[in-house]
Amino acid sequence: MRKYIIAGNWKMNLNLEQGYGLVTEISGMMQDEIHSNVELVVIPPFIHLHGVQTLLKDSPVKTGAQNCHHKTGGAYTGEISPTMLADMKIDYVIIGHSERRQYFGETNALLAEKINAALDAGLTPIYCFGETLEEREAGQELNVNFQQVKEGLFHLSEEQFSKMVLAYEPVWAIGTGKTATSEQAQEIHSFIRSKISEKYGNALAEEISILYGGSMKPGNASELLSCKDIDGGLIGGAALESRSFIDIAKAVV
Ligand code: PEP
Repeated sequence: MRKYIIAGNWKMNLNLEQGYGLVTEISGMMQDEIHSNVELVVIPPFIHLHGVQTLLKDSPVKTGAQNCHHKTGGAYTGEISPTMLADMKIDYVIIGHSERRQYFGETNALLAEKINAALDAGLTPIYCFGETLEEREAGQELNVNFQQVKEGLFHLSEEQFSKMVLAYEPVWAIGTGKTATSEQAQEIHSFIRSKISEKYGNALAEEISILYGGSMKPGNASELLSCKDIDGGLIGGAALESRSFIDIAKAVV
């Protein structure tokens, strides 16, 4: 049975006090309300990670980083290495979020290096992929998503790939209030799973959690999360408020 993951990407939001308040509420609420097959992950900005991690040390809620560098250390001013994150007992790292691709010029080739470094450090990468509106309107969504997954991940061994989490995030649905319909999302998830199966075999493809991200909220979570190949959500805006984050997680039944 695949694990469901509900991960909250805070992006560049919340000060320390707000962040501490949010995780304290989430951790308190989740005990009775969430299905045992759901893992909750909070993904704050780097400077809050240590404090959040300390607050959550006796909680089942996991932590993640929003990015990491592809080297383990050295003269890279302003960067954070995956080994530093692993040393702090951070569990997950987002690699390839569309905002990193779009605003920071991150290419599939660079992301492949980040994936290697994150896996070597013992982190679980959440690899994001997704098409733009123009690409969807041009009927290119299957090609574009496959290309991102292939170039970012298909150099991995079976053992490495088994440690991955993927997240389909159509760029046109992120932070826009527009959500992919469950049919649109399921089509991409099942297509990508079939490509993983061709490359790594069906057993491994069936084990990999593929999350959906893009304006997921309590009102649309049940429909999306009931799709056969959608194994959780990567949540932006709705993860900044404990009630909506927990209500999305409760939609997994
Ligand atoms: C995201 O940042 O990955 C995301 C899906 O954001 P939002 O939920 O706000 O669309």
